[in-house]
Amino acid sequence: MTIPATCGSGARNLPATSRPYAWPVRIDLHTHSTVSDGTESPADVMRSAHAAGLDVVALTDHDSMAGLEDAADMAAAHGMSFVPGIEVSCRHNGVSIHLLAYWPDPSHSDIVSMLAATREARVERAREIVRRVGADYPLTWDRVLEFAGSADTVGRPHIADAMVAAGLFPSRDEVFAEVLAGNSAYYVPHYAPEVMDAIRTLRATGAVPVFAHPGADGRGRVVPTDVIEEMARVGLVGLEVDHRDHSGSQRLRLAEIADRLGLVHTGSSDYHGTGKLNELGENTTSEEALASLKAARG
Ligand code: AMP
Ligand code: ZN
Ligand code: FE
Ligand code: FE
Repeated sequence: MTIPATCGSGARNLPATSRPYAWPVRIDLHTHSTVSDGTESPADVMRSAHAAGLDVVALTDHDSMAGLEDAADMAAAHGMSFVPGIEVSCRHNGVSIHLLAYWPDPSHSDIVSMLAATREARVERAREIVRRVGADYPLTWDRVLEFAGSADTVGRPHIADAMVAAGLFPSRDEVFAEVLAGNSAYYVPHYAPEVMDAIRTLRATGAVPVFAHPGADGRGRVVPTDVIEEMARVGLVGLEVDHRDHSGSQRLRLAEIADRLGLVHTGSSDYHGTGKLNELGENTTSEEALASLKAARG
C-alpha cells in the first residue's frame, strides 16, 4: 500500500519520491462516533484521525451503519483510506461478545435486520436501566434521550452522560464503576444475536468478522478458548489482540491462539472521542494484517 501524499503531518507530506525511506502506514480499525456512543460526529472522527497521523481508519459504530457515508467522504477529503465497519453486539451462553465486521453490505437485508433488532432491544433495555437507576438517583428517560441526541444506537454511555451532566459523577468511567457495570443491580442485558449465527450472516453477506477485545475481562465475563475455536470454525477471520483492555500476558495468549487457528491479528484504539481515555492510533494493525482481512472479503 502506498501512503497518500496528502496524508499525515510535517515530513510525512513529502512526495513519495523524496521520502528518505518508507514511513510506516498507521492503521486503526476500531472507532466510534455519535452514531453510537462516541462523542464526535463521523466526519469529526475522520478529522481527528487525520490530525493523529493515521493513514487508514475504520468507523465501527455499535450496531449501526448510519455514519459510514459521512465518514468515507471526510476520510477521502483528507487523503486517508477508509474501511467501513460495524461493531456487532452478540451473545454466547449469556456472555456478551462484540464482533467487529468490515465491509458490511448496507443493502443486504440480513445485516440490516440483524442490526435493527438489536437497536430496538437496546431502547427498551435502556429504559429499564433508567427506571432502576431513577429509583435511587435523580435521572429521567427524557434526560437520557437528550444525551443520546441523534444517536442511532442507544447505550449505557448515554445514561452515564446524563448522570455526569447532573453532577452525580465526574466522568463516564465513574458511572460505569458504580452504577452501570455488568454485575450491578441496575444492569439489564439486551437481546443480541447468537455469535455463531452472526458470524455466518456476516460471512454469507461478504463482511469480515474480527472478535473485538476478546480478553477484556475487566468489563465482564469473557468466553473461553474453545468458544474462539468454534467461532473460527464457523468463519471468524481475526482477533483484536492489541487493545488497551488487554494486559501484556493476555496479548501473548491471544496472539498464540490467533496463530494456532490461522486468525489475523489486529490492534486498534476503540476511540470514543472524549467518552473514554482511548487515543486514536494507540494500538494499530499491520499492513499485512489489513491485506489478509481484505482477502477474506466475499
Ligand atoms: P452497552 O453497549 O450499552 O452495553 O454499553 C457498553 C459500552 O459502554 C461499551 O461498548 C463501551 O463503549 C462503553 N463503556 C464500557 N465501560 C466503560 C467505561 N468504564 N467508561 C466509559 N465507557 C465504557
Ligand atoms: Zn462503545
Ligand atoms: Fe466493544
Ligand atoms: Fe468499541
